[in-house]
Amino acid sequence: VCKKPGLPIYEGLERFELLEKIGDGAFSNVFKARDLQTGKLVAIKVAQKQELNVKDSSHLHPSLKKRTKATERANILKEVQIMRCVDHPNIVKLVHFSESNDYYYLVLELCQGGELFHQIVKLTYFSEDLARHVISQVADGVRYLHEECGVVHRDIKPENILIDPIPIRPSKQKKMIYLDDEEDKEDEGEFVHGIGGGGIGKVKLADFGLSKIVWETKTKTPCGTLSYTAPEMMMDQHYSKSVDMWALGCVLYTMLCGFPPFYDESIRALQQKVVKGEYTFLSPWWDPISSSAKDLVSHLLCVDPKERYTIDEFFAHSWIQQGMKEIDTTT
Ligand code: ADP
Ligand code: MG
Repeated sequence: VCKKPGLPIYEGLERFELLEKIGDGAFSNVFKARDLQTGKLVAIKVAQKQELNVKDSSHLHPSLKKRTKATERANILKEVQIMRCVDHPNIVKLVHFSESNDYYYLVLELCQGGELFHQIVKLTYFSEDLARHVISQVADGVRYLHEECGVVHRDIKPENILIDPIPIRPSKQKKMIYLDDEEDKEDEGEFVHGIGGGGIGKVKLADFGLSKIVWETKTKTPCGTLSYTAPEMMMDQHYSKSVDMWALGCVLYTMLCGFPPFYDESIRALQQKVVKGEYTFLSPWWDPISSSAKDLVSHLLCVDPKERYTIDEFFAHSWIQQGMKEIDTTT
């Protein structure tokens, strides 16, 4: 097999031809690749088993520096375990998992449109319709995780929300958006980000590296032996889903104005702002945004997890419902 110059050759990955590096993390590399057996394009997340090869850790967040070989190993296996159980159109699918002496390989369905993060940078900010289109899909994935799988994602952010543009064929142009068009997705060729090119097709939640199973879906109880579980741990598990709702609020806020709700160059000051829930709808950027959108954001960025919107309250909100009605009338 002819490998592209500059790309590594991994033992045990002979079935795939690496095409380019698309993700460069502290603990893993992600490549676009072709499955030589099927001809289909995939993404492969390669994670090293041995000593972490963090060349320069000075820029890393303290929590990352502390991550050891053992926790990394456990994390990647947990990531695989959770990904194997999930099957939803708004969640990146794990199509294959294998390992060699030195590496784990997660073969994932490829999202050709890249990160939502880059789309926000490119467009500066999103219209309310586009933001609703994206956040509703992410929330659909979250609802599935919370309600069907008892899983909290815990790392929802624009870097982990990937875009799967829908390929256009001349004869198919009319049914581009909102349709679950699974066929011909692997075709290389022309892609469009939804309606009018300004929109975004389908989005998918990726990166289950920090996610956790917290809730037994069959028994509807927290994981672990209930009889010996401390009340605060029970409460903790009960409210753990709310961390994803907070993150949805942060993502929605960021899409609507182009900058995140909480920011400070000093980590300490940033922590303080988050703890107190200190954010504003900064003028002039937020002036043209509807009060309904602001209302939804404020119910998600609510410091008290008991008060914060649940996924059902999110979907019941008028700003989200407004979009549902618009879709109904066009179909
Ligand atoms: P990390 O734990 O290093 O953050 P991720 O799973 O988030 O690992 O992958 C890192 C980056 O690789 C993502 O932010 C994205 O840019 C890219 N990536 C990961 N999975 C895919 C995929 N299935 N399709 C396209 N790009 C992907
Ligand atoms: Mg990530």
